[in-house]
Amino acid sequence: MVTAGQLLALMEETLRAQGFDVAGAIDELGQVRQSDRRDRGESFSFGEHIRGMLLALLSNQRPWGPIARNEARLAELFGGYEAERLKAADKSRLAERVQAIKCGNRAIARQMADLDANLATLERIAADYGSLDRFVLSDAPEAIARELGQGKRYKLRGMGFTLALEYLRHVGVKAIKPDSHIRRIVGDSRLRLHGGYPSEAEAVAILSGLAAEAGVNLTYLDNLMWLYCAVDYGAICGGAPKCGACGLRPHCAQGRAVQGGVGRERVRLA
Ligand code: SF4
Repeated sequence: MVTAGQLLALMEETLRAQGFDVAGAIDELGQVRQSDRRDRGESFSFGEHIRGMLLALLSNQRPWGPIARNEARLAELFGGYEAERLKAADKSRLAERVQAIKCGNRAIARQMADLDANLATLERIAADYGSLDRFVLSDAPEAIARELGQGKRYKLRGMGFTLALEYLRHVGVKAIKPDSHIRRIVGDSRLRLHGGYPSEAEAVAILSGLAAEAGVNLTYLDNLMWLYCAVDYGAICGGAPKCGACGLRPHCAQGRAVQGGVGRERVRLA
């Protein structure tokens, strides 16, 4: 039986054995650092919330690497994330400039066209709660993400539940972003921590349980598991998994099948 702590350690060891700088990559993502800031009682400005919302929107269905490498340029294009400068910007031109530095996505024109409406929603939330910080801490991260992604009062355009969780992590809220990498690796084709392909909510519950059992920061666990899978980063357990290099192999249905095992025994956490 493997513990949650052992699963984490095996992922860290596998990445390091491939020469991957785990600590450096987590630091570059910046979300654990942001959660540390919040743990110290620091607050996040309105501009930092705009930054979080925009970076989450940009991350929609595309690799993160080029966005990470262009963060300073994006801050410049987005007027230092100042609301008034963004409102005054030509949104079509903004979308073109984001595309030109390879940070766009299929929805970028719509995302920029919706920017003023989303800024107005953020301003309304801040007025209702006293600040955006108060709002994001007013309920569990999943409840806040549901409101921003699907709610009737504060739905942000172009933002679903998963992207809303990404926004929250940019402003220091510890949370899981249940994207396809995460859902696939915990599902029944790989680690079998769930009896099928988990829904977004089920993936959040599984990783929350793992983080609690291992006693680690939820955002750290999310980042580590995502780095383990993402093509621009660790790329161990992506669409074409490198099972031969993976320390999770004895605990994984696909890994066991690859090495000749029956691969049907579900991982049981101690
Ligand atoms: S053994 Fe293969 S499929 Fe399983 S977690 Fe490792 S890389 Fe992914």
